[in-house]
Amino acid sequence: MNAPRLEIDLVKLGHNARTLVNLLSHHGISVSAVTKGVLGRPDVARELLKAGVTGLADSRIENIQTLHFAGVVAPMTLIRSPMVSQAALVVRHADFSLNTELDVISELSKAAQSAGRSHGVLLMVELGDLREGIMPGDLENVVRRVLCFPNITLRGIGTNLACRSGVVPDAVNMGELSRLADAIDATFGPVLSVISGGNSSNLEWALGGGDTGRINNLRLGEAILLGCQPLHRRPIEGLHTDVFSLVAEVIEAGSKPSRPWGDIAETAFGAAPPEEKHTSDPNGTISQAILALGEMDVDPAGLTPPQGIDILGSSSDHLVVDAGQTGLKVGAEVAFQVNYSALIRAMASPFVTKLANSVPYPNSFDAFPQKRPAASEGRSFTPV
Ligand SMILES: *Cc1c(COP(=O)(O)O)cnc(C)c1O
Repeated sequence: MNAPRLEIDLVKLGHNARTLVNLLSHHGISVSAVTKGVLGRPDVARELLKAGVTGLADSRIENIQTLHFAGVVAPMTLIRSPMVSQAALVVRHADFSLNTELDVISELSKAAQSAGRSHGVLLMVELGDLREGIMPGDLENVVRRVLCFPNITLRGIGTNLACRSGVVPDAVNMGELSRLADAIDATFGPVLSVISGGNSSNLEWALGGGDTGRINNLRLGEAILLGCQPLHRRPIEGLHTDVFSLVAEVIEAGSKPSRPWGDIAETAFGAAPPEEKHTSDPNGTISQAILALGEMDVDPAGLTPPQGIDILGSSSDHLVVDAGQTGLKVGAEVAFQVNYSALIRAMASPFVTKLANSVPYPNSFDAFPQKRPAASEGRSFTPV
């Protein structure tokens, strides 16, 4: 079988999504499943929809386009503020987008008018993480303007925490979002139907038993995909943390000294050479193996090896491990667990074959052998 390959267990993924949808439904919170971690894979999206998520969300319009072309039918939200240069693509493929800039909304309005469509806008509010968001004091004025744009419907407001600065969603900032929603509705009549409180890092707050106020939606990626809450990267009880595994093949194996020799400067990626913390005998030899896997394929720092194997170092194309007592031989395969960073790099690498429940999915290398669409058309999709 091809290696390296990323194996996706759709059954476990469906279980994670269903569990979170059920838990949050008791708090009146719907789930928009975020598909950016899997590049908008249609088979994953279908599993998520079967599990009861109310819509799909992605940061890249190209991924939403992939879903659209594959015939996946669901409300689609672009969760990164649209590029002006992609306004037409956004109104064509996404039903809603998260926005912070009137200039962008103006372009969406024009594009929606030419396409004879209506586009839904959620305004993102800055609540401390200092990534995207309108300052709370400016929200009312922005809403007033948004309500005037032709072919634009104000759908709601939202916020995003714990991404750039690690600000924890709590009763204070979530309470402020609820109060802002009340204030906007009080001024303009009931105009906000969706109050989207955040991402996977909101789960502790949402399920903690406190009042969730007006928040009625979360956008969940990592919690569904990896069964993990990102605030402290702890597994979430009842969820699978092994939906994905990355399998790589051994291309060299044998005894080698544990210490390099010669003058030592920077390594291929600039870092100081690693200490020999993993080796049982720093002056002796170890059972070293090299896997055909590297920075081109994955974030090596985000890999967890199986018991008995330690990662020693990596470069573009090689992952060096201490094989311990495992007796790894050339041609053998090793399966790693991935964190979010390793997952997205592996998904985006054309060198990594993706297999969902043993069904291959085209890599960008072999997906579209006949015709490569122009960049402006985005990607086409052939159902598998
Ligand atoms: C990526 C992203 C999410 C999902 O985050 P997870 O931590 O994977 O749940 C939600 N909202 C926005 C705006 C995002 O960019």
